[in-house]
Amino acid sequence: MVKLTWYGHAAWLVEFERHTVIIDPFLKDNPKSPVKPSDLKKIDFVVVTHTHSDHIGDAYEISKEKGAKLVSLYENIIEADKSGVKEENIAAMNIGTQVDFGGIKIGFVQAVHSANCTGTVITADNVTIYHAGDTGLFGDMKLIGEMYRPKVALLPIGGYFTMGPKEAAMAARMIKPEIAIPMHYGTWPPIDSNPREFQEILKGEVKVPILSPGETFIV
Ligand code: MN
Repeated sequence: MVKLTWYGHAAWLVEFERHTVIIDPFLKDNPKSPVKPSDLKKIDFVVVTHTHSDHIGDAYEISKEKGAKLVSLYENIIEADKSGVKEENIAAMNIGTQVDFGGIKIGFVQAVHSANCTGTVITADNVTIYHAGDTGLFGDMKLIGEMYRPKVALLPIGGYFTMGPKEAAMAARMIKPEIAIPMHYGTWPPIDSNPREFQEILKGEVKVPILSPGETFIV
């Protein structure tokens, strides 16, 4: 069983049986997040797709306070120790393959965006979650689907900075997850897209739960 809790925007708490991961923990300044970093309990890994403030958010603070391993691309976090993150908690990787952190594997994949953005594929308990980061549509999403067979794809649908509902639906058709959950919409006016549009396009093809911020989906 894997529990996925959406904190609004691209922030997700992923609770595997033994490992708890927070992805893109934009909490304090996130108008939709029902939690602040101090409300979090056990966090083992903080995974960051890129350094835009709506993604790296409170990552350093959470890593410091929870003793969690901070995982991102090299340039994104190599100087995190200057902000007080313990050196042994900095996993400065790059796009390529999943790294085994002891029962949980975390990898980065391509995303089409600025700021060196990535997607991330996280596997534990025989379940793979693909968080696409901020991205436009690109053909190699098909390859990511074939390579990692994610059960769940978390896809941005807000438009303006990322895919909109139509592009994200095409992405889901390429990735072929069992479940596709929309994210990165509704935070502010420019990204107020309609998740029902995404759901409607994929009707009968991919399961699309629409979550409210703070809601948990169990896989
Ligand atoms: Mn963003």
